[in-house]
Amino acid sequence: MNCPRCAVPLGDVTPDQKMSEVRGLGCPTCAGVWLEQKDLERLQEIVEVTWFELRHIPPPDLQAELLTCPRCTPARHLNKVQSDRDRKVVLDACEHCHGVWLDGGELHAIQEKGVASALLDAVRFFMGKR
Ligand SMILES: [Zn+2]
Ligand SMILES: [Zn+2]
Repeated sequence: MNCPRCAVPLGDVTPDQKMSEVRGLGCPTCAGVWLEQKDLERLQEIVEVTWFELRHIPPPDLQAELLTCPRCTPARHLNKVQSDRDRKVVLDACEHCHGVWLDGGELHAIQEKGVASALLDAVRFFMGKR
C-alpha cells in the first residue's frame, strides 16, 4: 500500500509510544500515517471515548487537496474530518474501509494533545455514519 501523497510504500509504525498496541502504516517521506479500522477499534478499546467531542466536517470550499484512499479499489476520495479540540488537525478518512490518514504535520499537532484525542474524533465520525 502506497502513501496517498507521495506514492511510496508505507511501512509499520507506532503512532504513539504510549500506546504501543496501536499500529499504523507510515510514510518515510512525508511522515504521514495510515490507520485502518482495526487499529481505530483497538484505540477505542483502550481510551475513554467520553473524553471526546463531536467531530466537525468543514464545508467543501475549506477542504484542502483531496486525497485518494490507499486501501480501496476502485479509488475513492478521503473525507476531511476536523478535530473540534484542535482546528489545526484535519484528518482524511475513508467512509468505505474506515481507514484514517494523518499528515506528518497533523501527527505532530496531535501528539501535543495526545494522539488518541484526535483519532477518536475520527472514530466518532465513523460511528455517526453507521
Ligand atoms: Zn508520503
Ligand atoms: Zn478506503
